This record gives sequence, structure tokens and C-alpha cells, in this order.
Amino acid sequence: MPMNQKPLLIHIDVDSPLKLIDFYRLTSINYDTNRLEDFYRTAFERANDFFASQSVFATFFVVGDELEKSVAIQKLVLKAFGDGHEIENHTYSHPFGLTRLTDQEIRQQIEKCGRIIREVTGTSPIGFRSPGYNLDTRIINVLQELGYHYDSSGFWSIMNPLLSITRKFLFKSGLPNADFGVVNSTLPVRVYRPHVNNWLRSDVTRDFLELPLPRTRFALPFYNNFNLWAPGLYSNLASNTIDRPYLVYLFHIIEFMDSTDPTVPKELIVHPNLKKTASHKIKRSREIIRALSKNYRVQKTRDYIRECQKSA
Ligand SMILES: [Zn+2]
Repeated sequence: MPMNQKPLLIHIDVDSPLKLIDFYRLTSINYDTNRLEDFYRTAFERANDFFASQSVFATFFVVGDELEKSVAIQKLVLKAFGDGHEIENHTYSHPFGLTRLTDQEIRQQIEKCGRIIREVTGTSPIGFRSPGYNLDTRIINVLQELGYHYDSSGFWSIMNPLLSITRKFLFKSGLPNADFGVVNSTLPVRVYRPHVNNWLRSDVTRDFLELPLPRTRFALPFYNNFNLWAPGLYSNLASNTIDRPYLVYLFHIIEFMDSTDPTVPKELIVHPNLKKTASHKIKRSREIIRALSKNYRVQKTRDYIRECQKSA
């Protein structure tokens, strides 16, 4: 396969300020549905404009409870779907530490979000990402039982142990998702079929795919939030040189927003990238996509999944 034909899949996790408030344990903030809808309106418009300007179709991983309670949010998600983007499952309520829940609770989180997506778009989701990349073998097995075709939560980088320590240091009581479930440096960097007894191992006979998130040759994370936070010189170099069999390039919807947006609570300034202006981040994201496009070709995730399923 020529260099410029390697697949690039553009993903975006739709984590609202409500879910970030939960992540940072800023529980005293009052954030009502009107403000949430306004956030979705602005963020979806900017994300959709960005993807359209790059002529790419993205995969949106959406949270069920926010979709369920608001017709306005349903309309935005349906519009993204109608524009050609894919809508997949990011759990019902976005609990951090999904691996600490019971089998039944995990199943409910996935099933409820899946049902709401089906009601809104008329199409069943086939892909999943766990909040905070918190994953284990049970989650993979539940996904397959429920008819899903792939998971894309597998993530390991040198930052995993560092992040756990940093978070414990910065936040006295630690953060709820300071761990990533069951994962270590043996996590493959290619698409594979996870074994039913140990998701980190591969089983070529299995009919379910894991699409791990990328890390660089130096085991540093490679997703948009990290690249926006790192010095431009570094992220340009990383984007021009990252060499993987395929890439998932992961955005978060908050990267299209900044602390001047009235729908973004001031307290969320603890987020590493909210001080940077949205226009600056969009410009940087454009440069990164352009750099990646030299060696990769953007593909729809479902098309790529079908190709992987055909090849044994
Ligand atoms: Zn999330």
C-alpha cells in the first residue's frame, strides 16, 4: 500500500461542559439545559464548519442522556448525521471509571445510549468509545454481545503513569478517571481482534475489532487536545512524522470552544486548552490535518471497518 493511502479516521468525542465539570469535580456549578443547548449549537456549528472546510466526514461519539433530554440537541446530531458524519456510542451518562461498574451497569450504559441514537438517527451505532479511555475485557465482550463491530478506547502512552501521578498531585483526592482500566504498553498500535479472555491479546478468529488510539514512536499521546497543548514546533514535527499502519485522530468538541464563550463555565479554566482562543485552535487543527494528509487519506470509519472485516 503506498504511503499516502494509509487510512486516517477523524473522531470527535462530544463531551459537554457538564461532563467536564464532573471530570474536574466542580460539582457546585449550576448549568441548565438552555445553556447546554447553546453550547451544543455553537460547538456543533464550529466543528461541522471545520470538517466541511477540510472535506472530511467525522465520527461523533455522543452521550445518551444529553441527547435524550433535548430536542434541540437531537436536531443538531441528526443534522451532522444527515451531512454524512457517523454517530456512535459514548455511553449513556459518561461515567468515569466504566470498568468499576458491574456487568449489568456497563450493559445499561451502552444499551441506553444505543437506543437513543437509533431513535434519533434511525441507524444503530456499531462503534464505541469509553469515557476516559477506561477499558477492560468485559466491556469489549458486552459490546460484541450487543451487536457492536468495534471499540476505539484502547489507549496507552508514556503519559498514562505520569497523568495518574500528576492528577493525584494537583487534585488532593485524585480525579475519578485517573486510571485507564486494564491496559499497558503491550497494547498494539494496529487494528486487531481482541481475545475474549484478554482484550490486549489478539485472536484472529474473532469477529470484533479494536481500533487503538495512536501514540508516537516515543510513546507520547497523539490526539488533538495533546497536540494543541504541546508547543507548535513539537506538534508539527509529530504530525509530519507519525508513522502508523492507520490513524484515529481524536478531537473533543470542547476544542472548538474557549473560555470567552458564555456557555463555557469560568471554572473550567482548569482545562489545559480553554485559555487558547477557539480560532487559534481551529487554525492549529487545520495545520495538523494538512500535515497528516501528506501520508494518510481520510476515510469514513464504517468503510474502513468493512474493509478490515473482509480481510482475515
Ligand atoms: Zn468523553
